[in-house]
Amino acid sequence: MKPLVAIVGRPNVGKSTFFNRMIGERLAIVQDMPGTTRDRLYGDTDWNGREFTLIDTGGLELGSGVPVGQIGLTGQPGDIMDHVKAQAQLAIEEADVIVFMVDARSGITAADEEVADLLRRFATKPVILAANKADNEARRQDSVEFYALGLGEPIVVSAISGIGTGDLLDRIVEEL
Ligand code: GDP
Ligand code: MG
Repeated sequence: MKPLVAIVGRPNVGKSTFFNRMIGERLAIVQDMPGTTRDRLYGDTDWNGREFTLIDTGGLELGSGVPVGQIGLTGQPGDIMDHVKAQAQLAIEEADVIVFMVDARSGITAADEEVADLLRRFATKPVILAANKADNEARRQDSVEFYALGLGEPIVVSAISGIGTGDLLDRIVEEL
């Protein structure tokens, strides 16, 4: 089995954009996880000759036309954070490397702090902090604020343009 790299983070930070950039036309396998909605996408990829399986957590929900308020463990809007945290928990259990994605446009949110707290306390595998949507120099500079999450240096990326994604992938394969 290839090493597992899970992308976690609250909705809308760009997890699926990064996943799709890596997996592209390749088949993404959907996995049913007990106790959660059907929302993890698995895809095999490689970087610098290192093969791994990338997991997009929350993969189907927001890309599937389902209103955000309808997702979650029991279908109630308030469960979105429970759901994000459950996915982070699963990543802690099964992934070899966790990519924690945040949004450089919005800055740190309470939801980011909750996920960061969980990862700091329970993750025994490497956690790589990725500040996405750092599309320009100003946002790249603003991304230093994510140091405050206590997970080390944020790797600044723009999943939509591809800027910095090579650096993120270098970091990922370093940890495999
Ligand atoms: P997810 O919910 O974490 O999977 O986030 P998505 O990948 O669905 O992206 C949420 C929104 O952010 C979409 O409208 C994306 O086009 C946008 N987005 C993703 N990456 C970037 C980026 O690097 N820069 C900008 N400006 N927008 C992005
Ligand atoms: Mg998504």
